[in-house]
Amino acid sequence: MADGRVLVVGAGPTGLNLALSLARRGVAVRLISDASGPGEHSRAMVVQARTLEFYDQFGFADEVVRAGIPGANVHWREGGPGGHEIRSVSFKDLGEGLSPFPFPLNYPQDDHERFLVDKLRESGVNVEWGSRLAGFEQLPRGIIAAIAYEGRTEHAEFAYLGGCDGAHSAVRETLGIGFQGGTYEQLFYVADVKINRGFDQDLYFNIGEHILTLMFPVRSSGMQRLIGLVPPELSTRDDLKFEDIRAQQEQLLDVKVTEVNWFSAYRVHHRVAEHFRAGRAFLLGDAAHIHSPVGGQGMNTGIGDAINLGWKLAQVLQGRAADSLLDTYEPERMGFAQTLVATTDRAFTPIVAEGLKGEITRKILGPLFVTAATRFALGRHAMFRLVSQTRIHYADSPLSEGRAGEVLGGDRLPWFRMDGTSNFAPLRSLDWQVHVYGKIHDALVAACREMSLAVHEFLWTDAAADCGLQRDAMYLIRPDGHVALAASLQSAEIVKNFADRFGLRFTNLP
Ligand SMILES: Cc1cc2nc3c(=O)[nH]c(=O)nc-3n(C[C@H](O)[C@H](O)[C@H](O)COP(=O)(O)OP(=O)(O)OC[C@H]3O[C@@H](n4cnc5c(N)ncnc54)[C@H](O)[C@@H]3O)c2cc1C
Repeated sequence: MADGRVLVVGAGPTGLNLALSLARRGVAVRLISDASGPGEHSRAMVVQARTLEFYDQFGFADEVVRAGIPGANVHWREGGPGGHEIRSVSFKDLGEGLSPFPFPLNYPQDDHERFLVDKLRESGVNVEWGSRLAGFEQLPRGIIAAIAYEGRTEHAEFAYLGGCDGAHSAVRETLGIGFQGGTYEQLFYVADVKINRGFDQDLYFNIGEHILTLMFPVRSSGMQRLIGLVPPELSTRDDLKFEDIRAQQEQLLDVKVTEVNWFSAYRVHHRVAEHFRAGRAFLLGDAAHIHSPVGGQGMNTGIGDAINLGWKLAQVLQGRAADSLLDTYEPERMGFAQTLVATTDRAFTPIVAEGLKGEITRKILGPLFVTAATRFALGRHAMFRLVSQTRIHYADSPLSEGRAGEVLGGDRLPWFRMDGTSNFAPLRSLDWQVHVYGKIHDALVAACREMSLAVHEFLWTDAAADCGLQRDAMYLIRPDGHVALAASLQSAEIVKNFADRFGLRFTNLP
């Protein structure tokens, strides 16, 4: 019999979050990575609001925000000779009133990974660097994994395996799961550089025909990160250097590059795995879905996978839910991944092919920037909702039920703050809970006490009404802050029936 542990393969942002999610809930976990240490180059630069909300549940979102640059000014420039700035937008309070973190945070992936490694250590888990998953076998009672390190191979048994091993996932290949999609023709480059005008905290977005270049600030190194398309005439070169594209990029960005710390060229794929679960093994993050980095969604989606699976695995291993709870992981996360790949593809292809001349670019990107640049909340909120991942919902999941007010089962719990109190504060318990906005009935309190289920009553306020909640309705909230069950009626019976379907046992009374 497996000893209840989970093997997490891969210590990128996805694996680190899965391990953290399990460790914080008291599940024994081993996290292996074939790398020698955390990544040394920042790839993903943007941490979205939904990720910060998850980190708030772990209690360290504020530390992450302090380490990054929240809501930079974004300059949209038209590329090419004679290019000029079209608009500049502050992303500082883009989602004011929608999230405690109403901005995208600039925080490079390498700093981010080192931060998570430290948090994991504080939770008693050390990443096993230099350890490679060499193979595994699924048995009815568990998984036997072969872990290779220091020239030898250890065979160990686990209850479950989390494949967070990136785009070339050995877990996915061993399971024989297809990874359908394709590869964009265009070649991308990424570079860390210093520029003549010193450290610039703003973000620059250059777009033109066959031109796409982004410049971000990297606070910890005082450098600028450049990400962009290699000009088509150079895209077949396999020995490309920054010098080859220097003149064009300097002209586009209107800067002189004085130092190049890192340069790399790569191709971008768009693929989604056919399944995210096979028996006791799961695929998460880039192992399950990859797409264009434009839009800053990839890493955040992987982190969302880890948060979604983490609490479910913990509850099943602790005998607090039936195994069928784990079946909800794939439908909840695959739908979003497929949509993301399709939309980034739709937006990315015309941008790259035609730049500002592209009809879709003009129709989508133009109005978005215009609305984001307005002083009006409606436009800024539309932009925030599009990128922040706060709109992700699981309405079609078997784990989602009912509707009360504007809020459906599967939605992220809408956020509000009133008189300094946030309705997200109780989510730090990382456990199931009932919320009532208004007056909670004594019978529901008593029944929840009997079920050992925490209940929270909030004053009915305009802020609660504004975010679509219904007065005196009952919301059963999942450990990841999504609404599982919404009902106009306060009924313990409805909660009990819901819990029975997934064998849920609540044990979270203080
Ligand atoms: C230039 C660039 C810019 C990007 N910008 C953004 C952005 O702004 N926002 C965003 O959200 N995303 C962005 N992305 C995407 C983002 O970097 C990835 O989505 C993210 O790294 C995926 O994390 P992961 O943990 O799933 O996989 P990875 O980071 O690839 O980690 C995989 C881990 O698995 C390990 N591993 C692999 N095989 C084995 C094995 N057999 N045994 C043990 N360990 C193994 C690896 O060593 C590694 O530690 C960008 C990507 C690139 C390339």
